[in-house]
Amino acid sequence: MTATPRSAPEIVRTKIVATVGPASRAEEAIRGLVEAGVDVFRLNMAHGSIPEHQESLDRIRRVSESLARPVGILADLAGPKIRLGDLPGGSIDVSEGDRIRFVRGTESHAPGEFTVTYEPLLDELAVGDSVMIADGTISLVVDERTGSHATCRIVQGGTIRSRQGVNLPGVKLSVAAMSATDWQHAEWAAAAGVEFVSLSFVRSAVEVKLLKELLRTRGSLARVVAKIEKREAIDNLESIVDAADAVMVARGDLGVETDVASVPMVQKRIIRACQRYQKPVIVATQMLDSMQHARRPTRAEATDVANAILDGADACMLSGETAIGEHPRLVVEMMRRIARETEKQYLADRWHYMEGRFLAEKGSAGVPVQEFLPSPEFLVEGLHPITQAVVDGASRIAGELDAKLFVVASRSGLTAIARSKRRGAVPTVGLSDNPATLRQMALYWGVTPLAMEATHDVGVLLDRITAWGLAEGRVQRGDRILLVAGSGFGTGGHNMALVHEV
Ligand code: PEP
Repeated sequence: MTATPRSAPEIVRTKIVATVGPASRAEEAIRGLVEAGVDVFRLNMAHGSIPEHQESLDRIRRVSESLARPVGILADLAGPKIRLGDLPGGSIDVSEGDRIRFVRGTESHAPGEFTVTYEPLLDELAVGDSVMIADGTISLVVDERTGSHATCRIVQGGTIRSRQGVNLPGVKLSVAAMSATDWQHAEWAAAAGVEFVSLSFVRSAVEVKLLKELLRTRGSLARVVAKIEKREAIDNLESIVDAADAVMVARGDLGVETDVASVPMVQKRIIRACQRYQKPVIVATQMLDSMQHARRPTRAEATDVANAILDGADACMLSGETAIGEHPRLVVEMMRRIARETEKQYLADRWHYMEGRFLAEKGSAGVPVQEFLPSPEFLVEGLHPITQAVVDGASRIAGELDAKLFVVASRSGLTAIARSKRRGAVPTVGLSDNPATLRQMALYWGVTPLAMEATHDVGVLLDRITAWGLAEGRVQRGDRILLVAGSGFGTGGHNMALVHEV
């Protein structure tokens, strides 16, 4: 039976991560977001209960299966986030020059007296330290500290509410990387089989390794995402990126814990480090923030998404926009449109540099442009050097032959990461017979995950890919397909690059 060919689908390489919340928890809402282009859903463990997250996960899995679209799930652990305790009356207005007190214990008894969820705070604060409340909108400085309280002067006033977040920029806290609740959430994430687990407020590589170890010992293959949002993380960036499986530029807290003016350049630094180490990187927070209410983004927001993609982000994340916003689907569609427009130019430049370079060398059409993303310097962790070399060589061949499809057979997904990080313009399909691997590939830039049964027969594999490519409108007769696989798909090795003419 021959399948009816479809017209060529629109391919957007940048992946979209969307946070699930009250505005997007319903199964129909999740379906709408997947149809609009969400690749990975974030479950924010700082809010909601485990049964609620389990329910969201079950819904995402059902939608993903019914649409035959591998969709990843990221469980985002709150980490050592310090919060205010309950305030008498629920809130208090403070003005510049006012004084408030942090006291020990769990209950405050007077207006202007605050408790926090981190017991040793009073021992670790020093006179002159800054304290930020409510995402940095209210700032304080410590004036005096005794054994029982710390008095702070308000530098920037506003309304302070119960349970708001507290940031201590530059203060080295002894708080553990993971609270008892984080452990519980990580255990749930492992048992539930999520694809990614992220850790907030990472300070060192050891913390990342600890979470990896916890997940491995629970039999989980979840990949660990380090959220970079503290000064200490920026100081230890190389070792954290090296230790993590993926990275998130968590600009919300980053812009409070460090000078907000430095966030744009820190974002570029983190992305470059991820490129060197071949780690997928997600740019997060306030990307299309005004669309929580508005139906169109500001020009600055649209430009922010485009610039993150040009910087080399693998994925862009939506937080409040999809969790509590008024039009989650619209915002995903907008992000996808911006990505598509940006990628047109990005890929043209990229093609000239990476894949059309040989033409320039021959004095023909291609013009090398400045390389805006450095070549990876390190192997993908766990990837055989032969596989890396085959992917690199095949990426070059794909460009030279103007191939229409680059196919990587990948049991663990590592080969797909290597191809993704080449940022090749030829569309990539990641084949696997492992559903969990396919769901992880959903995060990798430029990779379309595709389920395919393992076979040792390359001829059979090529027949299946060709049939799929023709049916999906991805290839036509005469087009070339590049295949990277082992000498038999399913054997584990990736030592072969093969050019197939349809
Ligand atoms: C951030 O701070 O930017 C972030 C992504 O973390 P959260 O949304 O958990 O605060």
